[in-house]
Amino acid sequence: MDILNADLHCHSTISDGTLEPEAVAARAKANGVELWALTDHDEIGGQQRAMAAAHDLGLPYLTGTEISVTFAATTVHIVGLGFDADDAALAAGLAATRGGRRERAQQMAEGLAKVGIKGSFEGALQYVGNPELISRTHFARFLVESGVCRDTSEVFRKYLVEGKPGYVPHRWAALGDAVRWISDAGGIAVIAHPGRYKFTPTEEFALFSEFIEHGGRGVEVVTGSHSRADFVKYADTAREFDLLVSRGSDFHGPGESHTDLGTLPDFANELTPVWSALEERILR
Ligand code: AMP
Ligand code: MN
Ligand code: MN
Ligand code: MN
Repeated sequence: MDILNADLHCHSTISDGTLEPEAVAARAKANGVELWALTDHDEIGGQQRAMAAAHDLGLPYLTGTEISVTFAATTVHIVGLGFDADDAALAAGLAATRGGRRERAQQMAEGLAKVGIKGSFEGALQYVGNPELISRTHFARFLVESGVCRDTSEVFRKYLVEGKPGYVPHRWAALGDAVRWISDAGGIAVIAHPGRYKFTPTEEFALFSEFIEHGGRGVEVVTGSHSRADFVKYADTAREFDLLVSRGSDFHGPGESHTDLGTLPDFANELTPVWSALEERILR
């Protein structure tokens, strides 16, 4: 399998990105991406637009989503690639997963009001396409725009992570359910950015083992939030667990994401890329 400039993890206005699906497609193409997937959080409503835009640009496309999962009391993200975008069980599972976001957001706003930040629910909603998908990112944008913080990473650090006033714990999908929704729809489930979870080695081993038992087949090795050391570590993990490897910027928008579409380094070429197992699912 040739080395390919694949970018299989990014977001649009359908979830918490700032560009419309067509603009993400155009940016991917302009940046030299050769295989693209739009992976909005807990939603596949942008897939038809992404597919059509990719087709018009002559950009090979894999369907995508990024599912929020709770594992060992931690939020873990599972990327799904190459599934049937018309699959009803997948759509229902994603709808159930995003179901509690609105109530959670109202509780987040209550927590922020207690430290003097008023109106953040309504404020965050201004940045949301679909209110069902209101996320911490939209709160972060509101707090930056209203001058409470300088940038979104400061907002997360001071207000939106565990122990801070705007943090509300939430139960997302079960790992096995998320993996099965993707696999049963003909796709491949991939553990997103494993370097971001603060797991002990035992918990991380449990995550990978259980993920594989449920039918998961891939891991993101090269992604925007991974360090060089993470590239090496998770390449080793992929070998140890015999997993396919994936690559994606996790781009959310210009000026907000430090890694742009299509600008990631390659992984070591003895690894098997996830797209080699999805050849028939690539839309050209
Ligand atoms: P939620 O699904 O509502 O918990 O929001 C999670 C989203 O917040 C992620 O998908 C990222 O886009 C964003 N995010 C998480 N942590 C950070 C951070 N430290 N800095 C900036 N954005 C973050
Ligand atoms: Mn996000
Ligand atoms: Mn993620
Ligand atoms: Mn993401």
